[in-house]
Amino acid sequence: PGTLYVVATPIGNLGDITQRALDVLAGVDRVCAEDTRTSKRLLTHFGLQKRLVALHDHNERDKLDQLTEWLQSGESLALISDAGTPLISDPGYHLVQHLRELSIPVVPIPGACAIIAALSVAGLPTDRFVFEGFLPAKSAARKQAFQKATQQTCTQVYYESSHRIVASLRDLSEVIEADRRVVLSRELTKMFEQSFSGTASEVLKWLESEPNHQKGEFVVMVQGAFPTEASQGMALEPLLKLLMAELS
Ligand code: SAM
Repeated sequence: PGTLYVVATPIGNLGDITQRALDVLAGVDRVCAEDTRTSKRLLTHFGLQKRLVALHDHNERDKLDQLTEWLQSGESLALISDAGTPLISDPGYHLVQHLRELSIPVVPIPGACAIIAALSVAGLPTDRFVFEGFLPAKSAARKQAFQKATQQTCTQVYYESSHRIVASLRDLSEVIEADRRVVLSRELTKMFEQSFSGTASEVLKWLESEPNHQKGEFVVMVQGAFPTEASQGMALEPLLKLLMAELS
């Protein structure tokens, strides 16, 4: 069979496309794209004219048979999304899972991803982090999601849209400790790229201070929970026993 290449595209700055992505896109028989108009513009920019197949959340399952047939007949395909790495809060999961079951080769062509770009400049620990995806749209559900996620001791990462960024930060500031560090990255790799770091209420104030700060695409990162008394206690107990034994 042919191969499905899962190709990362830029998250803003077109200079972030990789040479390998261009070579693979030039070589495949068809390109599966989330939004064919957006992808056509991207491909045209790089002088590529390809057969495009729409593959989005609403038709992904219906397209499986057709895509599998093409691959089994020896065609090679590329999967791209509107921006960044496919499958990361973007379509493609059902296709990749299906092809893996059939042992059809699936090969990554890595590149830009907003989570990784944001973490690399946040100044928060990155040895362990959890990606929580998009936050719920309604405030009550969002607060609940924050309450649960922010208990984790590793750095937490969320995607958020401009419509809800202020409301989300307000909810976050009500849920976490006042001294937890929050970093907001907006418009990464684009003209008005900014990353702002502070407490949740400082970040909220920064957003509210200037309407332009609320525009664009956002990654929200939250410092991991401080170790709780319970977990400290667990570590301290054996130590205390040792000390007591020394003293007696
Ligand atoms: N697959 C993409 C990736 O690899 O990052 C993510 C796609 S998801 C549908 C879109 C969300 O990613 C946006 O709402 C925003 O939270 C985040 N995002 C994408 N591009 C971004 C950028 N240039 N700056 C900040 N966040 C971005």
